[in-house]
Amino acid sequence: MAERWTPKSWRNLPIQQAPSYQDAGALQAVETQIASFPPLVFAGEARKLKASLARVAAGQAFLLQGGDCAESFDEHSADNIRDFFRVFLQMAMVLTFAGGSPVVKVGRIAGQFAKPRSSPTETLDGVSLPSYRGDIVNGIGFTDEARIPDPRRQLEAYRQSAATLNLLRAFATGGYANLDNAQRWMLGFVKDSPQSSRYADVAGRMSDALDFMRAIGINPETHQEVRTTDFYTSHEALLLGYEEALTRVDSTSGDWYATSGHMLWIGDRTRQPDHAHIEYARGIKNPIGLKCGPSMTSEGLIGLIDQLNPENEPGRLSLICRFGADKVGDHLPGLIRTVEREGRNVVWVCDPMHGNTISAGRYKTRPFERVMQEIEGFFGVHRAEGTIAGGIHLEMTGKDVTECTGGARALTADDLQDRYHTYCDPRLNAEQALEVAFLTAELVKR
Ligand code: PEP
Ligand code: MN
Repeated sequence: MAERWTPKSWRNLPIQQAPSYQDAGALQAVETQIASFPPLVFAGEARKLKASLARVAAGQAFLLQGGDCAESFDEHSADNIRDFFRVFLQMAMVLTFAGGSPVVKVGRIAGQFAKPRSSPTETLDGVSLPSYRGDIVNGIGFTDEARIPDPRRQLEAYRQSAATLNLLRAFATGGYANLDNAQRWMLGFVKDSPQSSRYADVAGRMSDALDFMRAIGINPETHQEVRTTDFYTSHEALLLGYEEALTRVDSTSGDWYATSGHMLWIGDRTRQPDHAHIEYARGIKNPIGLKCGPSMTSEGLIGLIDQLNPENEPGRLSLICRFGADKVGDHLPGLIRTVEREGRNVVWVCDPMHGNTISAGRYKTRPFERVMQEIEGFFGVHRAEGTIAGGIHLEMTGKDVTECTGGARALTADDLQDRYHTYCDPRLNAEQALEVAFLTAELVKR
């Protein structure tokens, strides 16, 4: 069995997707500096999220997880963060109404900087360079220099995560997320948006409910659930030196927690059971996600569950399934049956993005229809198995980008060039994301 876990025990194991830093001394200096910085999140918050995810596993809440594929240093504005948060709140409200139960809100934000790549190199017009690995590692510019991993980027990622989290905390608790503002979250949304009247309807019903409370003498403002919201952060735990530097002992429990974000997940490319990423994840007490793609077998999954959640703690482990619209029906039932037979407590989450990427000329895209087909397939399998479809995990933005085709506005492959801004994978734009929420709400209701 495994050796004793420490925040750095992953260093003794083989590792996938690690950048080749050229100056080991500079890397170590940065890691030492980050280790001296304050934590970004607190253990108590991660525990609270774990308790909420335990309710998701029990079918008493729904998980909405989403955000950029990759955050970038160049697009770090208050407007971006606000626009994302606003559409996320709208989606959560739509899903809350549909399910009649709480929505657990987890952003892919304030730390989602490191990217695993399918190939170590990228080729453009006959020129090959090392792949871009996310702003925390190297630059997206297509030059030799930009692609050299620079450890100082980790300091910038920490700074940006802290600033983003600070604004998110202000939005979540400082009045912006007050349910009385639900009508106003629509402002700034494209006026003739196909989703706007549908949303106005839901927001109107919500206002009526608050007015009704006032009419019978209950002041909604005195309830924290009305005034504020719980919003959590998550990212892929890929760059382990950075994660190690932010792994801290919780003074209350004596346990180790990652403090770079509330929930960390392990990607589909780095989940080898005897490798570094699983080793790191098993020792931290945060809620953990595990991406499950088509290569995940039932035996492999049970082995990983044994490593990541040996005590079968509810809310600890979310299985983020990303098979593809055409494969979910083949792969998911077997995994569900094994997990059920072995009595393992997990949260089943659908990532309808990563198995549905296609290329359309120069651009990678994801057809909206396929995204919805995978979500429908996921819900259908859970209905047939009598298990719980716990949530969805999306790549999305609050902006009006043109990266995924389809949706109510029927974006075509020719439209992609208009506003294709992503640093990595194609994201749903604000309208498409809200549309996914409405369509998923129909599935949650049944
Ligand atoms: C991602 O979530 O951006 C990602 C790379 O996912 P996966 O590991 O499932 O491919
Ligand atoms: Mn992605």
